[in-house]
Amino acid sequence: MTQLALGIDIGGTNTAFGLVDCKGTIIFEESQPTKSFATPIDLITFLYNHLEIKKNLDTIVGIGIGAPNGNHFTGTIEYAPNLDWKGIIPLKELFEKQFNKPTQLTNDANAAAVGEKMFGAAKTFKNFVTITLGTGLGSGIYIDNQLVYGAHGIAGEYGHIRIIPNGRQCKCGRFGCLETYVSATGVVRSIKELKSTDSHTSEIQTIENPSAKDVFRLAKNGDAFCQEIIDYTAEILGSSLADFAAFSDPEAFILFGGIAQSGALFAHKVKEAMEKNILNIYKDKITIATSTLHDQNAAILGNAATIFSNQN
Ligand SMILES: [Zn+2]
Repeated sequence: MTQLALGIDIGGTNTAFGLVDCKGTIIFEESQPTKSFATPIDLITFLYNHLEIKKNLDTIVGIGIGAPNGNHFTGTIEYAPNLDWKGIIPLKELFEKQFNKPTQLTNDANAAAVGEKMFGAAKTFKNFVTITLGTGLGSGIYIDNQLVYGAHGIAGEYGHIRIIPNGRQCKCGRFGCLETYVSATGVVRSIKELKSTDSHTSEIQTIENPSAKDVFRLAKNGDAFCQEIIDYTAEILGSSLADFAAFSDPEAFILFGGIAQSGALFAHKVKEAMEKNILNIYKDKITIATSTLHDQNAAILGNAATIFSNQN
């Protein structure tokens, strides 16, 4: 019987889940609105019944879960601001009780790094950092072939390094954090805060609720202001990665998520900005790559990968 891992990605909006084999083939995947589960128990019961009907329970060797504020060491979700489930939730314990299968919990950025290492662009790297660009900015760090969890299981909150003194206010309560500039929401804030050097009105200013996607689409079509926003975003990210390189000396940074997938041009600009700002000894040594995992499957693959990587 093929051994499968159940990968679950709990997001603020949707919870995606699927079964994956050890080669990274997704057997099936589905998604449900996270808000449809009033409690974590509701989610667990739903998944158990769903997989029982599909007769998949026996094939599952383990469960890998990615969740905001998921702590790998304690197996708990701790005070996740984007979830309705409040306080500290012993998710690993609850899943193991119901399924009787080994369960791993981590945050989504770490799961992305494990997925990239097992199935994606980082297969050949021992030292690399994945930068996930979504609503916020997360990072997963591999050093000497090991994912870095840190002393408390929460390493890699790179989105919250403060890069501009007294800059934009962040959800974390502080000011000038990297993710307030470099993320989908950061790009949207730039539309309002930056002034174009181009005298023409940009189409982006005529869209009622513009998204980061709109900025990238219009930039591709030659919109000068949108191109300036992308340059600004890439410049800040590249400069920050130059600093990140100084403490971990990676072979590569792998960009992951919506913005990263909008084209090779962004990665190229980030690379330029990184090289311009980097310490001499690291020059021309670090690759900037984009994820090769298909975006919507990546979270499920990454979480399933945490189970297989543990078996090796
Ligand atoms: Zn912050």
